[in-house]
Amino acid sequence: MRTRITLACTECKNRNYDTTKDKKTHPDRMEIKKYCPFCRKHTMHKETK
Ligand SMILES: [Zn+2]
Repeated sequence: MRTRITLACTECKNRNYDTTKDKKTHPDRMEIKKYCPFCRKHTMHKETK
């Protein structure tokens, strides 16, 4: 069972990525380091609903 999630930059709060995750392997909010085109650097991206 995969759930659709949105990943938002923790610095500028822009929602840069749409992805899916497996709720069994990631029951909590995911945090991934990804490139943010608004900050123009890699930042932590947090799962939002
Ligand atoms: Zn950003």
